[in-house]
Amino acid sequence: MLYRVIDGSELPLLVEAFLERYEVIAPVQTKKGYAFAPVDSFDQVALDYPSTVSSLKKYYLPQRETLFRFDAETNEVLDLEVEVRPRVLFGAHACDINAINCLNSVFEDARYPDPYYEAHRRSMLVVGISCTPTSECFCQLMDADEARSGYDLFLQDIGGRYLVSMNSVEAANILETACNPRVATDEDRRAFRQATRRRQESFNPAIPDIQEIPMLMDAFHSDAFWDELGERCLSCTACSAVCPTCHCFDIRDVLDPDGRIGERERVWDACTSPQFATVTGGHNFRPTGRERVRHRMYHKLNGFLATHDRNLCVGCGRCVRACKANISPIEVLRFFEKKGAEDAE
Ligand code: SF4
Ligand code: SF4
Repeated sequence: MLYRVIDGSELPLLVEAFLERYEVIAPVQTKKGYAFAPVDSFDQVALDYPSTVSSLKKYYLPQRETLFRFDAETNEVLDLEVEVRPRVLFGAHACDINAINCLNSVFEDARYPDPYYEAHRRSMLVVGISCTPTSECFCQLMDADEARSGYDLFLQDIGGRYLVSMNSVEAANILETACNPRVATDEDRRAFRQATRRRQESFNPAIPDIQEIPMLMDAFHSDAFWDELGERCLSCTACSAVCPTCHCFDIRDVLDPDGRIGERERVWDACTSPQFATVTGGHNFRPTGRERVRHRMYHKLNGFLATHDRNLCVGCGRCVRACKANISPIEVLRFFEKKGAEDAE
């Protein structure tokens, strides 16, 4: 890994250089909060954003995507093109980069890599930026507060200047051409350590740090806690929509009115939706809110860890803000904390 330092005043030059060759996606302020959206100048970028409402996954796994068109009379596939455009995702926080790493595990490292996902990912450069945790952030508890891979450049604010970790030749060349990067000094390294410590000390201490979460998930699998959460759940699926790692989808064939040409499309789905686990014949494997909410939390805090060696929750806090019923992984951590306190009495 190579490190360089650039001045804060050079960031507009970097973004302008990216704009010459790529569509640049960056955090912008909207009437409903912050969102990742295309920008055409650095002035539109909200660099010190706390978090965005929705995540970056829409650029890897679009909410609706046509996989191919087919002739419904001959059953022939007509085209199989993946529409991609060269993009830079500018200003991703560490948790969101770790979320992309989770998606990569599912769609790329799998036995059957997903060509659509791969095409989107290959067309993208990722530029990360350091952040200050909000009161709903708990990425440090999910080991996702630092990005060790999955980015091309990572910009750490060290007070008026940025320590830049460079992870790809393509992005490093653009940085070298657009800015005037210099070698990091001892003072820069000290400033980096101080900034890291400040961030670590900014996390909300009221969110409990629970050890052995997967074991506790198994131990309390039948607890009435899940009934209570299930009764509160509105099945609105907002949690999955905003989550950067939820990746379930449905496949649909849509025919033209004459029934001749069809499109096979992939659309987001959610395990908190009542019909998600309904199969042909009408049987529903998860008929109640209790089973659906518990399933989602298990996948986030237990099941994915067993198969991919990392949590599927990166602690970004989006579902904490999105859920109108106050259901989130934080509630699960608090439940375990309460159980631990009861046991200790
Ligand atoms: S857990 Fe909350 S956000 Fe998710 S479906 Fe239920 S009510 Fe909606
Ligand atoms: S489960 Fe909630 S906190 Fe965890 S990654 Fe998803 S949206 Fe973020």
